[in-house]
Amino acid sequence: MLLRVLMGVTAALLSVSTLAGAPFSFDDAPGRLPKDVVPLDYTLAITPDIGALSFAGTERVKLKVRTGTRTLVFNSLNEKLADVRFDGKPVATVVSDDEQQLTTVTLPHTAAPGLHTLTFSYRGKLETQPHGLFVQHYTNPGGAQGLLLSTKMESTDARRMFPCWDEPSFRASFQLTVTVPAAWATISNMPVSTRAVHGALATSAFARSPKMPSYLIEFSGGELAQVSARSGSTDLGVWAVKGREGDGQAALANAQQILKDYNEYFGIAYPLPKLDSIAVPGGFSGAMENWGAITYNDQLLLINAASTMQDRQTVFAVQAHEMAHQWNGDLVTMGWWDDLWLNESFASWRGANETDLRNPGWKWLELQDASKETAMRSDARVASHPIQQHVANELQAANAFDEITYNKGEAVLRMFEAFLGPEVFRDGVRRYMQAHAYSNTTAADLWNALSAASGTDVGKIAAGWTEQMGFPLVRVAASCDAAGKRELTLSQTRFLLHGADAGGARWNVPLRIRGGTTGAARSLLLTTDGQQAAAGNCSEPLSVNADAVGFYRVAYDRATLATNTSAFAGLPAGDKIALLDDEWALVLSENEALGAYLALAAATGKDSDTRAWIQIAGSLGSIEYGERGSAGHEPFAAFARSIVRPMADRLGWDAKAGETPDVQELRRTLLADLGAWGDADVRHEAKARYDAFVKDHGAVKPDEQALVLSIIAQYADAATFGQLHAIAREEKDDTAQRRYYLALMDVRDPALAQQAAQIALSKEIPPQAEDSRLRLLGQLVNRHPALAWTSVTENIEQILVPFPKYAPLIIAQLPEFLWDGAPLPQIEGWVRAHLPAEMSAQVARGMESARARRAEKQLLVRETDAYLAAHPRA
Ligand SMILES: [Zn+2]
Repeated sequence: MLLRVLMGVTAALLSVSTLAGAPFSFDDAPGRLPKDVVPLDYTLAITPDIGALSFAGTERVKLKVRTGTRTLVFNSLNEKLADVRFDGKPVATVVSDDEQQLTTVTLPHTAAPGLHTLTFSYRGKLETQPHGLFVQHYTNPGGAQGLLLSTKMESTDARRMFPCWDEPSFRASFQLTVTVPAAWATISNMPVSTRAVHGALATSAFARSPKMPSYLIEFSGGELAQVSARSGSTDLGVWAVKGREGDGQAALANAQQILKDYNEYFGIAYPLPKLDSIAVPGGFSGAMENWGAITYNDQLLLINAASTMQDRQTVFAVQAHEMAHQWNGDLVTMGWWDDLWLNESFASWRGANETDLRNPGWKWLELQDASKETAMRSDARVASHPIQQHVANELQAANAFDEITYNKGEAVLRMFEAFLGPEVFRDGVRRYMQAHAYSNTTAADLWNALSAASGTDVGKIAAGWTEQMGFPLVRVAASCDAAGKRELTLSQTRFLLHGADAGGARWNVPLRIRGGTTGAARSLLLTTDGQQAAAGNCSEPLSVNADAVGFYRVAYDRATLATNTSAFAGLPAGDKIALLDDEWALVLSENEALGAYLALAAATGKDSDTRAWIQIAGSLGSIEYGERGSAGHEPFAAFARSIVRPMADRLGWDAKAGETPDVQELRRTLLADLGAWGDADVRHEAKARYDAFVKDHGAVKPDEQALVLSIIAQYADAATFGQLHAIAREEKDDTAQRRYYLALMDVRDPALAQQAAQIALSKEIPPQAEDSRLRLLGQLVNRHPALAWTSVTENIEQILVPFPKYAPLIIAQLPEFLWDGAPLPQIEGWVRAHLPAEMSAQVARGMESARARRAEKQLLVRETDAYLAAHPRA
């Protein structure tokens, strides 16, 4: 089914490329639909028949014919049109082609330029996967079954709900009417304007929307209830399945803060009368920024007593991302999917800044370093792709939603915000919003606005970061004069996971240089190889990526690295993080010996910077994974414990008064690693806490449950595993239940791991948690890579049901995660067999990652054994 659908999409390839560097123009915007006819306004009425999984619709579209034509071409999928009329008169022919996702209407005569009206009735399909208009089943806490309707349109699924010009540059206004059970609440982009009850049904008409792209249409209906508040002139609501709306209070308070800040930041007040946030139980696993009616997987919106601090952080961060889209994406939309980053990078960057602004104790921007590292790892592949990439069809539009678009784009925007200065950057964003409100843009429009605000040709500097793939490794060679003054000679090459770049790519690199441990960083644009710069004294440490804001790596000469290493404990947190990230990447790419990195790890001291320590713990964890089953494992585990133990001892098990959430996160990370690396004291304490938890779940706080249960599960025998399983199965709270099931997947015993995989695939998982199967089976990869591989691949269709749009992208990325689960040729063969041929570039990317992981595993074991032999412990 999956493959057949994809092949159909592939056959629909037909597009023209965007003009690189040109501002948005409707006529030049890429796309499949002819531009001689444009919709201005849609009036839609829909009556679902849930039993039949179908719906009846009527549609009236006001059109502008720009040049005389006899044919109207628009998108449709799985819809049957009837009584099609143009200006009230029957048309000549109507041909709907589901392979092409197009309907072509032929008129009896050529339509003259000007305004016209197209009307028809139609039948469509209620989807059971989250695309178009779909039915979502869920189990209530009491065990009763419920269902609701919701929508998910991006990128190209509005056409599943109503025939339309389903490309982002065809903005139009929409007026939706729905007829559903009278007991239901109904939500769409705009408020309900009229509602009439007739028997068991009610017809709700929503107010007409402003001009917007079709992919932002939303409708949800079901037994839903809300908590609400007013913020300025905007009505805010948070909706959930009736009875759970109280769990939306935290999100409602967040939304009030975020809306206030964004109204100010963007310089244009939120333009719709209301903004709803809807917690959909299950369906899709993310959130969608429909204008005025944002939908969330309920796990990303609701907070209750079972939620952890991390859950709260996720809710705020996801809201901040989706609400940023109300401007970047909804008010101003990318002209075509080539520039998806204008939506996604922007929302990620703005959302992270907002999360940091409102929650300074979270150290959110520092933690974003992990997101940047994910993108750098992807982008260091020979087969990476630019942030801006050609999108020719529906499949490619869906595949654009990857870590380059989100994480790299976010990091690049942050780098340029720091380079231009936050106020100048904000002024540029305001100009961009003002100039393009209710319209569409390309990257050139953003660069032009930032150039106008800054007086710098931003496009000239920045385009290399979005139009070419990869990023530079900046090499720093320092020389010292007689007085000890340091002079740098700088050069760059593309950084790769392995090997040297033959392409000769170059960037304009906005460096941030700090000599010493205090003081502001200085900006310097690296444009030419051999460029020189003064940088403090040779006796002081040096950072050429101060505060880790840049999307590049730095390799220092020996003497400078030695100075940095000896001063490491006293470096500013961001400089420390940048050095750890870079040295680790240089070790993995064989540019640096492991000892250079381990010297930094050992020199971190008792500094409690969370991101630096999590980086260290993650790197040691990679080595520990590689050493498993070898004679070197126990010596290395002892070494790794000795690195993190002093810090873990200092933090202890219990939070201290006034401690910030990042320190608590660090505590749990280090204790989890010590537990995984066999630390007897940690295992003992975990057991004591687990025994108390079994008697009373309230004895262990939600924040600590994953830590305790994971350590118990790792060393569980059949009886303990059975007990853990019963705890998960009997849990009534969705959030807690997901946590307990996840812990089960950490079991080490191979036979019990088989059971865990069966559980993850079983009907025990409630319908609203079906999106968690992939996560559960993915967790097995740490201890049972072969089992994870077979469990995922043999059940791939079932696992990917909640991800219809992104299934190909997920399959293409599997080698990156399951690289140790099967021989590489077998992995590649399976992936190729499950993807259309046009995705060979994505397959190449995934396989490059898998090959790199395997090579790194061998390298780390080799270097670690040599290092430990040369540094015997007392
Ligand atoms: Zn987004």
